[in-house]
Amino acid sequence: MKIYNTLTRKKEGFVPIKPGNVGIYVCGPTVYNFIHMGNARPYVVFDTLRRYLEFTGFTVTFVQNFTDIDDKIINKANEENINYTDIAERYIEEFFTDIDGLNIRRANFYPRVTEEIDEILDLVGFLLGEGFAYEVKGTVYFDARKATDYGKLSKKNIDDLEAGARVDVNPDKRSTSDFVLWKAAKPHEPAWESPWGWGRPGWHIECSVMARKYVGQTVDIHGGGEDLMFPHHENEIAQSEAEGGIFANYWMHNGMLLVDNQKMAKSDGNFFLVRDIARKYGYPLIRFYLLSVHYRSPLNFSEELLNAANAGLERIRECRRNLLDAGWGNDGETAHRQAFLDALADDLNTANAISAVFDLAKDANVALRENTANPAFLADLDFMCDLLGVVLENDGNINDADVSEIEVLVTQRDEAKKAKNWALADELRDKLTSMGVEIKDTRDGTKWHLTRG
Ligand code: AMP
Ligand code: ZN
Repeated sequence: MKIYNTLTRKKEGFVPIKPGNVGIYVCGPTVYNFIHMGNARPYVVFDTLRRYLEFTGFTVTFVQNFTDIDDKIINKANEENINYTDIAERYIEEFFTDIDGLNIRRANFYPRVTEEIDEILDLVGFLLGEGFAYEVKGTVYFDARKATDYGKLSKKNIDDLEAGARVDVNPDKRSTSDFVLWKAAKPHEPAWESPWGWGRPGWHIECSVMARKYVGQTVDIHGGGEDLMFPHHENEIAQSEAEGGIFANYWMHNGMLLVDNQKMAKSDGNFFLVRDIARKYGYPLIRFYLLSVHYRSPLNFSEELLNAANAGLERIRECRRNLLDAGWGNDGETAHRQAFLDALADDLNTANAISAVFDLAKDANVALRENTANPAFLADLDFMCDLLGVVLENDGNINDADVSEIEVLVTQRDEAKKAKNWALADELRDKLTSMGVEIKDTRDGTKWHLTRG
């Protein structure tokens, strides 16, 4: 597989540290709200990477953290007058609801900051002891100038950073590029005891600690959104490589999801929650949509684009239904499979992989029209969609109550038609359409399916 490595700004052949194994670390969410569509992008992308690597025979160790203590979590807890741990618990649970809906496989480890405090204290203590850090009034800062090549990931130069900095920086810091490892507690804040007084970890230190503890001394692939490259990932490298050894061999960054050319962000208020979009369109469409462009490209978000993606996904679903109806079986391979796999091997080009799915569907439709049976069409369609994690059987996504409601309406419509009450039949069809149900009158009676996941 070729991977574009942000560290070298080059596409490189992937070589694991330990043959047959891959360790992946992906920065996770700060849990104080539901995830938005932009947040979903890295989780879908890196889950697809994992699926592809496992398909090619690797054993993957996949680790993703939860930032479960932070100013935003504390503020939210204060607003609701509950404990910060309740906020974190709630949104971790909600995170998993969306993750499961998006068919993202569970990581091997989900470490949380508040459960790794001892290890974090060890690393901060070590960095202080070795002269990479200094303490001022109970807060410990990393001294960026002590790092060997600070800026190597984001290609920023420490002198330029200093020159470009505004004057109103924290006067306790020796240099503007220095960053917090351990933060002295303010009154009434959750805090842990440390050699420097009560406090809590800075944001970046958790990933340095967790990646090494749960993946290994050097991570094969470190992932996250490109908005994290600087300063977060730069600081992770500085901390870990000051401790010793290389932190990560390959850095992969997904591009941003945009709304009207602006990054979708909680803080800017221009976000759409995964939960709300899923209610309207179903989770599988979200996954399909996020994979429809290459992960490094920016991706625009609008309902218009979602609808266009939905029409595409529906073409694939319809093709599959027709293949099932044709009863040609499910076995073998077409030429499209190799094109699909080649696309993924090329820096996880899911856009080209999805083109291969459409090419396959086009050929399958021709074969269906000409009635030239071939079991490889269904086999390949399922193979490709499985590998992308895109669920095609959309009936699996609704509950029994919905199914019985739909079936009652379908039966009522059948009866209306029998009674030649066309107005009522049309009305019932419209009602079903508005529920996202499409009906087809066939020789074997009325069949229905969902037009959304
Ligand atoms: P956060 O909870 O903001 O730290 O973000 C969690 C993950 O979502 C990180 O990997 C971010 O890089 C990613 N992310 C946040 N906003 C966007 C966006 N608009 N588009 C793509 N990825 C994003
Ligand atoms: Zn991180």
